[in-house]
Amino acid sequence: MLFAAVAVSQTQRQAKNLDLVLPTDNDALFRGGGPDFYQYVDRDYNGEKSTPWEGGQYGFVRDPVETGAGVVYTRFHEGIDIRCLHRNEHGEPIDEVRAISEGKVVHTSLVPGYSNYGKYIVIEHNWGGSPYYSLYAHLNAIDVRTGQAVQRGQHIGVMGYTGEGINQQRAHLHLELNLMLSSRFEAWYNKFHRKDPNQHGKYNGANLTGLNIAQFYLELRDNPSLTIPEFLSKEETFYKVAIPKSRYFELPKRYPWMAPPNAMAHAKSWEVSFTRSGLPIKVEPSERSIKSPQIVYAKKSSMSVYYLTNGIANGSGEDPHLTVYGQIMMRMLIFPD
Ligand SMILES: [Zn+2]
Repeated sequence: MLFAAVAVSQTQRQAKNLDLVLPTDNDALFRGGGPDFYQYVDRDYNGEKSTPWEGGQYGFVRDPVETGAGVVYTRFHEGIDIRCLHRNEHGEPIDEVRAISEGKVVHTSLVPGYSNYGKYIVIEHNWGGSPYYSLYAHLNAIDVRTGQAVQRGQHIGVMGYTGEGINQQRAHLHLELNLMLSSRFEAWYNKFHRKDPNQHGKYNGANLTGLNIAQFYLELRDNPSLTIPEFLSKEETFYKVAIPKSRYFELPKRYPWMAPPNAMAHAKSWEVSFTRSGLPIKVEPSERSIKSPQIVYAKKSSMSVYYLTNGIANGSGEDPHLTVYGQIMMRMLIFPD
């Protein structure tokens, strides 16, 4: 009987392993990454043109700006650009694109002009009781429908170069792995962005915030039982924002691992910790009474935090404040309050 019990618990543990697959035939990530894995970007820096593959990585890898404290990459790339491997006789990309894990297709965007992602697919995965969203962008063809269940490694589409700023030569798959910020995104969006209609419901890229998926693949390979909460627990907090108490605050409900158990009920407000890229990783109760979101901490730096927070905050590390954009973004977390 003991044997049987051990066997069951091992099976259960194995069933929890995420066991992600890469979405195309390109597996150079596991052989050092670099230019074999990442698609280059076209860069024009002070008139000097270059094609660095580094711009295809996740992170602050784009739009260098010269500041008093040196060159800073100000634009955040929320996913990875996986280089094309297969082309037909006309140079068209034909790489098959596959689901990285089992899940449900929750969004397919078929009109390239509706998003700078071009044609894209969002798949919802349920891992450890929380929803995560893989996103596959710049596709040529989409071969799944919204609502369809997909298996790990299942064909979902074909690589392309739809969307903004891409051409046939730079064809690649842009892949993200995301948390969702708010299920009330659409109402929030319609209030603050009335002129530019949202065609994607809550699966708009602005509501999906990406983690470092390349790093996650690499760490999963070494530690197959790694979970997302474990992975994110090692991320550095770059800034903290206090959020007024609201019954619409969903983050700790969707991602309970962000908050200490039972701490939410008695708090007067919450402090949300963000990585530099704006990924929420922790929620703590606070005794502070506030009426609107305010930044309460930013990592010290020799340059304006504006460059280091994707424009969420401004000022120095000692005296940071939310920009108007930052205020609006934080209100999304408790909208319509
Ligand atoms: Zn990309």
